[in-house]
Order: sequence, then C-alpha cells, then structure tokens
Amino acid sequence: ALGYRHDAADVDTAKYPAPATPEGKKQVCSNCKLYQAGDDGWGGCAIFPGKQVQGIGWCSAWITS
Ligand code: SF4
Repeated sequence: ALGYRHDAADVDTAKYPAPATPEGKKQVCSNCKLYQAGDDGWGGCAIFPGKQVQGIGWCSAWITS
C-alpha cells in the first residue's frame, strides 16, 4: 500500500515518480512528519499503526516535517 519500501531506493518509480525527482531524493521516513523514531533505524508511522518502518524507507504519504 502507498508504495512503501524499506529502502527508498527500491520504490517503483514507474508507479510513484516522486522519489526519482531531485526533491524526492531527499524524502525518507526519518524526515517525514509521520515518523516516530525508534531503535536501530526503525520507527513507527502514523499511516501504518502497529508496524515498524525503516528510517531509510519511503511511501507516497511522505509529508514534510
Ligand atoms: Fe515513511 Fe510513509 Fe510513514 Fe512517512 S508516511 S514515515 S514516508 S511510511
């Protein structure tokens, strides 16, 4: 859902072009407003309750913090 990948470099940019743009390359979970930093590079995300996302991940709900 939402094109989430544990590594932003693995996003399917045919479906989700944003990460391929110069601005999009700066977007990762760890600088997303919805990220709640946890341990070992993982964290919580308001979009995926009860799951852990990776700090270097990305999804199309990314929002500037
Ligand atoms: Fe990562 Fe998407 Fe959650 Fe933001 S909304 S922390 S980009 S999974």
